Amino acid sequence: MSDAPYVLAPNKEAKAAFKSMVDRASEIVLASTADNKAYSGLTPYVLREKIRELGFFPDHGIGFDEIMDKVESEIAPSMLKTWSTLYMPHLHSPALLESIATSLIINAFNDSMDSWDQGPAATEIETLVIEGLLELFGFDKAKGDGVFTSGGSQSNISALTAARDSYAKERLYWDVKKNGLPPSYDKLVLYTSEISHFSMEKGAHMLGLGYKAVRKLPIDDKARVDIAAFKSMVESDIKAGYLPFLAVATIGTTDFGSIDDIAAMREICDKYGMHLHADAAYGSGAILSSLYKERLGDLSLADSITVDFHKMFLLPISCSAILVKKKEDLECFELHADYLNREEDEEDGFVNLVGKSLQTTRPFDALKVFVSFQMRGRDGYGKIIDKVIENASYFYSLLTKDRVFYAPVSPELSSVVFALEKSDDVNKAVRRELLEEGIVIGQTVYKNRVMLKFTLLNPALTHSEIDSLLLHIKALGNKL
Ligand SMILES: *Cc1c(COP(=O)(O)O)cnc(C)c1O
Repeated sequence: MSDAPYVLAPNKEAKAAFKSMVDRASEIVLASTADNKAYSGLTPYVLREKIRELGFFPDHGIGFDEIMDKVESEIAPSMLKTWSTLYMPHLHSPALLESIATSLIINAFNDSMDSWDQGPAATEIETLVIEGLLELFGFDKAKGDGVFTSGGSQSNISALTAARDSYAKERLYWDVKKNGLPPSYDKLVLYTSEISHFSMEKGAHMLGLGYKAVRKLPIDDKARVDIAAFKSMVESDIKAGYLPFLAVATIGTTDFGSIDDIAAMREICDKYGMHLHADAAYGSGAILSSLYKERLGDLSLADSITVDFHKMFLLPISCSAILVKKKEDLECFELHADYLNREEDEEDGFVNLVGKSLQTTRPFDALKVFVSFQMRGRDGYGKIIDKVIENASYFYSLLTKDRVFYAPVSPELSSVVFALEKSDDVNKAVRRELLEEGIVIGQTVYKNRVMLKFTLLNPALTHSEIDSLLLHIKALGNKL
């Protein structure tokens, strides 16, 4: 049994216990930074054995010190070190230092975003941040709206829901919220790149439309939606009686960071009365870069935008938002409950953000954005983004100078997809070998070839580290 104080309170015991627990936790984190390995290299079987030995739930508690010792010796060493410059497989970033401290504040208070009385300052900060983001992305803050979400997937699914409901309302005179799917639901289709994020299919399934409603558009040699193919697919679908309600432009595809031509997609959407969503989960960070911002295109042409702060913005998981050009588009999530968000309170200024969200209880993620934006400013944040994009183009330029490598798509953001010319098996083996050494890189497929991937989100990565990684991969390739 452990008699540690339970919760924060204005007494010495609680304060001392809190402080020493937080100190111990920082100690464990700092001890983990001893080397630059991203991973211990243990195989899944060995790690599983070690973890199972810890047991689950003892009859008698072992106390804070003892469990922390176990975390330090058995768990932390095989946790993934996102801050390592040798970690680059996914759009999974290290956390800015101040945002880790901010997370402590968020968790200590444990405010919730559903109703004003569960997070008064939190509600006001999120509102302020959302207004600022609307301006940053070029939306009119008086007409638009937005809400924080659990991630790009939820942001996308929220956008799909809003698009379906508003199409049904405006074009089919049908209220999906009250009546469920319209009679012609099996004709509804949406268009997105064949390399778009799988939350499109997941969303289509959850919306009752199924994967079959997701029309996959072919890509060009820069891994962007082929606009001519998009146009002709919409036209032939309309002829065949389908109801195109939405197109999704990917602003930074998950593998390549390629950016669809949003202006060209807008034109087609306008012509056929479709919504346009910009999935900028990855690319949104580049809005802060004065050097590379133009690469995104004009995101304000979209009806809604997904922004992930736990990717290029380097904020801890999870932190994401959905922005909409017209406030009404988030009304699909509005519903009042006597126990939570009474309309009479809202009339008196007690804003309840639950009315815009799929979630009910929800953390105060907006504070992470607020603190890092204030602390670093546009110039400081812009530098972070510039550095990772510049690193990607440096790495790409090295690859194109060496015939051992194949690198088909020039990077717009911070990801580079490449392969050793040798064979698929060699590329797979190189990645596994690196993992054992604690160097974690990505793997994907392009035109039926196994590819390796660097997703460069860590601004601390230097050119000389990139040089030696490249040499190392080349050497492994020669050996295998
Ligand atoms: C990462 C990503 C998503 C999903 O975001 P999560 O935050 O992981 O849910 C959606 N779209 C794109 C293009 C992404 O890269």
